[in-house]
Amino acid sequence: MDILALRPVPAAAVLMAITRRCPLRCRHCSTGSLPASEEHPGEIFQRFAGTFAPGDGPRLVMLTGGEPLLRPRLARSLAETAARGGARTMILSGMFFAPRVPPAAGGAARIPPAIDAAIDAADHFSASLDAFHEEEVPRESVFAVMRALLARGKDLSFHVTGTGPGDPYLRDVTAAIRREFGDRVPMLVGRVGAVGRARTAALAIPSLPAATGSEAAPGAPAGTASRTAPPAPPAPTGTSGAVTASEAGPPAGTGTAGSALPCAMAAWPTVGFDGTITACCNQDVVDHRPVPGHLRLGHAGTDDWDTVRRRCLESGVLRALRTYGPLWLAGAPPERGYCETCRTLDVPPPAPTPAAFVERQVRDLQLAGGGTGFARRYGCPPYDHLVSLGHPERDHDF
Ligand code: SF4
Repeated sequence: MDILALRPVPAAAVLMAITRRCPLRCRHCSTGSLPASEEHPGEIFQRFAGTFAPGDGPRLVMLTGGEPLLRPRLARSLAETAARGGARTMILSGMFFAPRVPPAAGGAARIPPAIDAAIDAADHFSASLDAFHEEEVPRESVFAVMRALLARGKDLSFHVTGTGPGDPYLRDVTAAIRREFGDRVPMLVGRVGAVGRARTAALAIPSLPAATGSEAAPGAPAGTASRTAPPAPPAPTGTSGAVTASEAGPPAGTGTAGSALPCAMAAWPTVGFDGTITACCNQDVVDHRPVPGHLRLGHAGTDDWDTVRRRCLESGVLRALRTYGPLWLAGAPPERGYCETCRTLDVPPPAPTPAAFVERQVRDLQLAGGGTGFARRYGCPPYDHLVSLGHPERDHDF
């Protein structure tokens, strides 16, 4: 809830994809990661984190990949450096280190020491869980690691992904997480998008590891079974949930040619695998070179946080994307593709900077929706309320 509530706030956080490597081979992987994928010197990321200054740095650093815990010493060092700069750190992992053979029922897993130290240094730890990950790492093994972390008071969450509101896997896994952790661990439920390996892979959904039901999403409000999802947006372009480096699909919504549909993703700078810093974490933006000029904020090897932050806050095009969205800027019809329109934007100077009061109103509207509002817009209704599980201010009116 707290992290997602910050999502529309420009430069409130920075994402760092510290390696594209991953030992898992999940069929839907948005980053197309492999064990020998690209990886660049840790000093690039370390240097950039060293420029965070207390009071002026990001409030949150999110370490992702690939699999960030393939570089546990770097992850730990970045978390410690970020803390000295006044930032909290979150790690998102695919859980490759969970034991292949789950411990006996209810048991906690042993975590390799270097990885354990990295998780300890971070303020929040999130595990990816979906049908494709479960082909690689058993669900019970992931639960055993999370049990061990929860027992020592770690702040945890799950990033859960499915094919959409009607996906029976989502009903099954969200119910299992709620049961296992007594509603103390929140989850952000997102949708698989056509990006990375998922762009070309035939994504037949693996069979469920446990029995499924046909009822509404567990814990959802009465009547949710027949609740319809918002009008389907164009296919999202990320797979691992709406806050990660592989996220950044378009928001849910409809529109006519040139209609306003603000992009809340153009808010958190993203340090890509090679240190290039982009204005959002849309995987096509992170992956392709050259980065479109209006979406490039700098490079972690040469720029400091203050420069990147100023570019993020002051760019007229980014301010317009956050306020009106790319379709409005391009006068394009929605069927042209939300992020695709953005990537090919050709806005002649002067940049179409929105009036400050309009910009503020749009941002405040998004802030008023809080973490749940963000999950509703970018995640997978009817599961948006699950981001509030375990939150001290949890809304009990579900
Ligand atoms: S609309 Fe543009 S800034 Fe927003 S997520 Fe898509 S590519 Fe990134």
